[in-house]
Formats: sequence, structure tokens, C-alpha cells
Amino acid sequence: MGDTPPAANVLTDRLLRSWLRCRRKAWLDRHGDATQRRWSAHRNLMLDDQQRCFVALMPQKPAHGQAGCAAGAEGVVGLRLKGRGPGGELVEAHPPLLRRVSGRSRWGAFSYQPVLARQGRRMTREHQLPLALMALLLEQEQQAPVRDALVVGGGGMGRRPARDRVGLSAGLRKQLGDALRKLRVDLDRSDPPPLAADRRKCTLCSWRGLCNAEAAAEGHLSEVSGIGAKRREMLKELGIHGLHDLAAADPDRLAEQMERFGEQHGEVARTLVAQARCQRDGQPERLQNTPALPELVGAPGVLLYDIESDPDARHDFLHGFWRLPCRADGSWDLTAARYQPLLVLAEHGEQRCWERLDRYLSVHEGWPVLHYGETESLALRRMAERQGVAEHKLMLLRARLVDVHARVRSHWRLPLNSYGLKAVAAWQGFRWSQTGVDGAHALLWWRQWQGDGPNRRGTTNALGWIFTYNRDDCRATWAVADWLLRQTPASFQSGDGGS
Ligand code: SF4
Repeated sequence: MGDTPPAANVLTDRLLRSWLRCRRKAWLDRHGDATQRRWSAHRNLMLDDQQRCFVALMPQKPAHGQAGCAAGAEGVVGLRLKGRGPGGELVEAHPPLLRRVSGRSRWGAFSYQPVLARQGRRMTREHQLPLALMALLLEQEQQAPVRDALVVGGGGMGRRPARDRVGLSAGLRKQLGDALRKLRVDLDRSDPPPLAADRRKCTLCSWRGLCNAEAAAEGHLSEVSGIGAKRREMLKELGIHGLHDLAAADPDRLAEQMERFGEQHGEVARTLVAQARCQRDGQPERLQNTPALPELVGAPGVLLYDIESDPDARHDFLHGFWRLPCRADGSWDLTAARYQPLLVLAEHGEQRCWERLDRYLSVHEGWPVLHYGETESLALRRMAERQGVAEHKLMLLRARLVDVHARVRSHWRLPLNSYGLKAVAAWQGFRWSQTGVDGAHALLWWRQWQGDGPNRRGTTNALGWIFTYNRDDCRATWAVADWLLRQTPASFQSGDGGS
């Protein structure tokens, strides 16, 4: 890395990967205003993962560039490949790792294959086609065929990464040629291609700020909570192109029309129209005239609970609680609120983790445990089951766990494009003390703190940042719960003091 960037008309493996993810992203990568890009922890996590996979595959340090290849090193990094694509276009690729394999190349009685690390469980075209491009250019560079390329994934934490071979078939080479041609057409456009059909991808994208603003400004259908790529296509077929069209639609007629695509779609049509109207008008709408959180009436206090996880290691490394007592007059004593992080190291084992959690929960017997989304309750209940907790105790635990997200959904329609914690709490005026931080960021800090194991920990500041982030998520959950409590219909209020 660090060498001169590719010339403006060159197609690169990175642009190709962006394009395979979202056509618009490739265009923005080339022509967009770089100051509009937002840093995302996802890329650093990816590089961190890649490093772990490569070290597990090849423990010795790789050599660098042309000199490494000429010396026949087992692994080589930092070689930028340049040449011509299948259609004669100028192309460049920067393989993250080259691995020595049998064969004969211009460097001697060996040749190289490109290696890529994948995140996620499956190999996709996002891996295969950039690899095919690297292989094509490597063949030109080493003057020897590349029979296959390697994808490694799921390594780290003491596990051997899985290895998948990608055969460089004629079919894959043809797909590469087609993709490069279409990429060229998209890059030559004067305007960016449309927003991604599946906007879930946008969460990880560095252009999300720009695209979210555009989607909001144009009332894009994906802005309506509950509309994914498939429903958007159906609605467009029915002549509904944006939030305002949907808000103006007749719900019964739309339900009839959408039933064409399957009965279940008809059922959701009314909900979608109501959601679009709610967002257009900016007014929350009550769906049930009963208290959303009856469990809190008369409780001595509440525990706000949030977990931080490393999904690849399948490890919940932090169980955070924000303990909020209730005063004798029924009001919530924010001045006495305390945060309690329970940090869980994999080497300590689950039994010890459960004992600590059980002890903490027992000390707060009778305090409802509020969390946002089902992750926390699933993790806690499953752990209790694995630890052989008796059925009656499991029932008590289940009864204590209150999913605030589920209560929001069942009691309110909100003028928001997402019912996620970040969106709902921010709508209630909650502000996180660390700006721009998300779960991926916390995971990156965790990996940095873990370093190379118990004897070589990274900076302890990272732990402090994780705790602050986790504590803020607990407080954000309270901000939403508190709003729900304040909306309790008058007929159900019995002199509770609010906060
Ligand atoms: S934010 Fe979404 S639509 Fe925009 S470039 Fe990224 S993936 Fe594509």
C-alpha cells in the first residue's frame, strides 16, 4: 500500500468489489466528494480479521513485492499488479497475499496464487470476481497459469481458518469480463447509479451519510420502516415510487393489489400505508390503550441490560447493567443510578460467567431487567439452560426480562424510518457521549484490547471506551422506556412520580 493511486481510467479490484456490493458505491468511490465519506469500523475489523486469517494460514512473516517473488518467499504482500482485462481494458489489482505453490514461473521452479480473507460464512461473487481479476493479472506478471485461488475465513481465536479453493474456470473468466464491462459503463455515467436495492448494506458503507440524506430528501421508499428490497419492487410495480405516494394510497385497495404477490403481502399493506403517513406527518400514533411497561409499577428499581458480542468468536464479552433504583414515592432516582460492567473472558468459561450474572441478578431480586431487542434475553436464557438452571428459576428469569423494543412496536407507530435503539432514543433527545460509535466500533476496541492474548493486552483505554459505549446503550434504553412510561394512559396512572 502507500504507492501511487491508479490512473483515473483504470479499473481496479477494489472498484470491482465496491461495484459488486453496490453499483452506486463504485461510482462514488471514483467520482464522489471524499470529504463526504464517513469512517466505519467495519473496514478496520475486516483488516484485523484478514490479519488473523493470514497469520493462521502462514505463521512466518511474508516478504514484500517483486523482490519477495524473485526470492521464492512462501508468502508475499504489497505487489501491485497491472495489465489488461479480458476486454483489453487497463486493470490493476493489489492482492492482499500471494502464496507460493508448485509450478514454474518467470521467477523459478514455483509460482504463486492470490489469497483473500473472507468475513461471513459464505463465499460470494464479491470474493470470486476480484480474485479472478488478481489471478488474471498474476498470470501476466509471473508468466505462468494460476490454476486456482484461495479464500480463507473464520480464523483467529485459536481456530484454523477454513480454506476454499476458487477454480479459475472459463465461466468465471467470462463473468469477470462481463462485470468489468458493466463497471466501465457505470463509471462513465455523469450521475451516480440509484441507491442500493437492499439498503441494509448501507449500514457498513462509508457513503451512508450522503446516501441516507438523499434517500430522506427524495422520500425514497426504503425510508419507510418495514420496506425492504422485495416490497419496494412490488410497490414500484403498482406505481408507488416514494414515501408520499405510499402515504397517499388507499390502504384497502393497496392490500388487494399486493395480495397478487401473496396473501401475507396484502396483510402488511395497511401497516405500510399507516407507517408512511406517520412518517409524512411526523406524529407518533398510539396502537394500544394499555400501559406498555406494567412490570415497572411498584418495582424497587430496574436493571437496564445490554450485551456486547464478538459474532465471529461467538462470544458475548460484556454484560453491562445500569442499575436504576426507584424512590419510595415511585419516582426514579437518576442520581443513584450505577453502571456495572461484567467483563467475560473466553478462558474463564461459561460457568463462571453465569455464576457472576446469577449473583448480580439475585442481589436485585424483583427488579425487572429491561433490554432493547431479543439478543439479551435469548443469550441469557440459553446460557441459563446450558448451565442446567431449574425450570422454575428459568420461568422467573423469563418473567423478569422485558424487551423494550417489542413494547415500542406493540404500543406505538413512530414517525421514524427505523425502530432501532439508536433511532428511537435519538428521537427522544438522547445523545451518546462518544459520537459516531456503534457495535462494530466496540468490537474493534475489544479486539484491540485483547491484543495477542493475556500476556500482551492492548491499551486499557479501549476497555474504558467500550464500557462508556455499553453504559450509554443502557441509558438510551432507559430514555425510550421512560418515554413509554410517560405515555401511560391517564386511566392507568396511579400517582407514579415519573423521573
Ligand atoms: S450507502 Fe448504500 S446506496 Fe450508498 S453507496 Fe453505500 S451501499 Fe450504495
